[in-house]
Amino acid sequence: MMGEVRVLELYSGIGGMHYAFKESGVPAQVVAAVDINTIANQIYKHNFPETPLWNKTIEGITLDDFNKLSFDMITMSPPCQPFTRIGLQGDVSDSRTKSFLYILDVLPRLEKLPRFILLENVKGFETSSARERLLKTLTNCGYTFQEIMVSPTSVGIPNSRLRYFLLAQSSAGDSDVQINSQICDAFPPPAESAPPQQPSVLSPTCRTSGQTEEEVHGDHVLYKRETAAEVEKKLVQNNDPSVRQIQDFLEPQMDVNMEPYLLPPKTLLRYAPVLDIVQPNCRSYGRYVEGTGSVLQTCMETQIDAVFSGLDQLSEEEKLQQLLKLKLRYFTPREVANLMGFPHSFSFPQQISTIQKYRVLGNSLNVVVVSKLIQLLLTPPRSADTTQVC
Ligand code: SAH
Repeated sequence: MMGEVRVLELYSGIGGMHYAFKESGVPAQVVAAVDINTIANQIYKHNFPETPLWNKTIEGITLDDFNKLSFDMITMSPPCQPFTRIGLQGDVSDSRTKSFLYILDVLPRLEKLPRFILLENVKGFETSSARERLLKTLTNCGYTFQEIMVSPTSVGIPNSRLRYFLLAQSSAGDSDVQINSQICDAFPPPAESAPPQQPSVLSPTCRTSGQTEEEVHGDHVLYKRETAAEVEKKLVQNNDPSVRQIQDFLEPQMDVNMEPYLLPPKTLLRYAPVLDIVQPNCRSYGRYVEGTGSVLQTCMETQIDAVFSGLDQLSEEEKLQQLLKLKLRYFTPREVANLMGFPHSFSFPQQISTIQKYRVLGNSLNVVVVSKLIQLLLTPPRSADTTQVC
């Protein structure tokens, strides 16, 4: 097989792909990482000081520069905003897709095609014309490829984050390496991949149907604007022993001052009905809107139902007293990083603010999921027999 894989990490962000390579155990060298986000770049540099980091736009890289890098693999997470269901879905007409189209333009003209390509994007990309163009380019260049939607819950991590992945392999060159045909078996479909596709809890103004929760859900008083299907989905996930509990990903209480992470009164009063509240023994950290994850109930003496039932009838002050009992807090950036599979060695430079940390983490990817994909793409089956077993 080949020695060290020479990887070109496009849209490198904080280096999720780089960490995934480390985690995978596949010998690799990132020959260049490219990103224009100066905050993300500071973090990348802090953790990978040896890796050449290009703080420039991908469109600004000439064909010549690409050729000089002589890479065997491209990893990329193009900006996802043009494809998110929450966004406007500008797709290929969105200016943020330009650099991606440039990559597709450059690929066939490279002196030497990379043997492997790994692309990550949001759910929504699979129906975009950007994807169609990608597949066309790959086919024209003689790649074989496989697409898959994976959520971290498939690898036992309690984070609902369904993502699109494409693994491609150049069919030129030696034929002993084939994309492992059992890729789908490696990622059992997550319980959460079932409908509903559209969360009903996007904002406090979402409840426009004229129905109250009580009308929708009978006598079961719900404290959150969730559909019955969403509640059911979470229940299923919370009882799935193949997924670890959130407490495994929390920082030790002793180590951190949690005070700054407690939800302030204003937020509690305004957003209580739309918060996704989880307990340490849950298995479902999620994020509904960009930048908003679940919040953690840290005081278990108080029953959540007791707090929320009849909350509507209380005065603001009483409401607040009730809500404060739960001691709700945000997950710390370190905890979010843990849920995303970043190793302990990952850290932030001192000057990065909390908001900036959340932002770059929100753009990044699940390291464990991607490391498995890298293994499947780059580690050939040991013998022809082993692929026949199933
Ligand atoms: N996978 C990365 C994050 C990808 S998010 C991680 O692990 O962190 C998409 C990234 O693309 C963002 O960091 C953004 O700054 C970068 N980006 C967007 N347009 C770009 C362009 N034209 N050239 C270079 N980088 C770009």
